[in-house]
Amino acid sequence: MYSDFVDFVRELYQSEDFIPLHGPLFSGNEKQYVCDAIDTTFVSSVSEYVDQFERKLCEFTGAKHAVSVMNGTAAIHLALHALGVGASDEVITQPLTFVATCNAIVYTGAQPVFVDVDRDTMGLSPDQLDSFLQSNAEMKDDVAFNKITGKRIAACLPMHTFGHPVRIREIVRICDHWNIPVIEDAAESIGSTYQNQHCGTFTTLGVMSFNGNKIITTGGGGALLTDNEALAKKLKFLSTTAKTPHAWKYRHDELGFNYRMPGLNAALGCAQMEQLPNKIKDKRLIAQAYAEFTASKSYDFVCELDECHANYWLNTLILKDETEREAFLQYTNQQGVMTRPAWDPMHFHERFSNSTDIAFPVAEELYRRAVNIPSSSRV
Ligand SMILES: *Cc1c(COP(=O)(O)O)cnc(C)c1O
Repeated sequence: MYSDFVDFVRELYQSEDFIPLHGPLFSGNEKQYVCDAIDTTFVSSVSEYVDQFERKLCEFTGAKHAVSVMNGTAAIHLALHALGVGASDEVITQPLTFVATCNAIVYTGAQPVFVDVDRDTMGLSPDQLDSFLQSNAEMKDDVAFNKITGKRIAACLPMHTFGHPVRIREIVRICDHWNIPVIEDAAESIGSTYQNQHCGTFTTLGVMSFNGNKIITTGGGGALLTDNEALAKKLKFLSTTAKTPHAWKYRHDELGFNYRMPGLNAALGCAQMEQLPNKIKDKRLIAQAYAEFTASKSYDFVCELDECHANYWLNTLILKDETEREAFLQYTNQQGVMTRPAWDPMHFHERFSNSTDIAFPVAEELYRRAVNIPSSSRV
């Protein structure tokens, strides 16, 4: 039944071999820059390539400042830490996300609190957020607290799912009303824009990932984006073991982290950034091909919404139900065409689930019906 799909993917990627969900491709200056980094001996975090990679990220996204770190999870942790999130706080996020989002919240000692996603964006729902806050939050001295748990609601962490922009402006408007800072988990959305503005630049802080399965990779890597110069300096300081600048003295005035991106990784990233526009173009062609192929089929292809320009990091099909999803996963993976379901929703994990009896029907429906299909760019 799904052999037409498998044939289509093989044709798309011109390959009879195993087809991964999302693989990296190094077809530019990667070797040259990495070898150059070795030749200079500056392979670690003090590196011209680190500075250059951060500048390239700013140019591409329009952010005023970028601070590179060793992975996206560390970037989220540092973002939360820098905003003062800690033990006895709560952070609002969506149940449909990669585990890193919640892990980073728990690293700070805070507890994730879930608000359901919208069916069309697959990201945090502003309507659900609004009603959650209306019924659960109260202001005390300009700070939002959860009436039921008594904990401070210290941040909101929406995610741009599979590269599709979340309704970020509405989320920011609602959170502004409650004085809750917003951090965008834009780990999957380099190259995605909403109303012509790059994802990850709408809020105080945005987070990116350059893991091997993302659109561009530094091997492992992440970055924080912000327009706030003081905050950018603070992030660099915190990621550099909070070392006070001095030619020879080692002084650390507060708890710091060693989260910096090494120059070797940044060298790879600089070469990947040169190819990013072409990669996004190709990924959008792939998405268009999938959209055309599925138009006459019994499953839906998730397309970008109005005013959104998606990078189509992972293309997504919505199948009829869980039974069909299982059959599809079985068949395609057996044929060597990798597909996978959406992540197990975060509230399924006991360590993340909170005591509230709020249901997350949309996240659960997407979990039962969505599958990701091969999406690597071919250039
Ligand atoms: C990839 C990803 C991250 C960060 O992952 P790292 O592997 O640590 O770079 C965080 N959140 C989401 C939603 C992701 O997809």
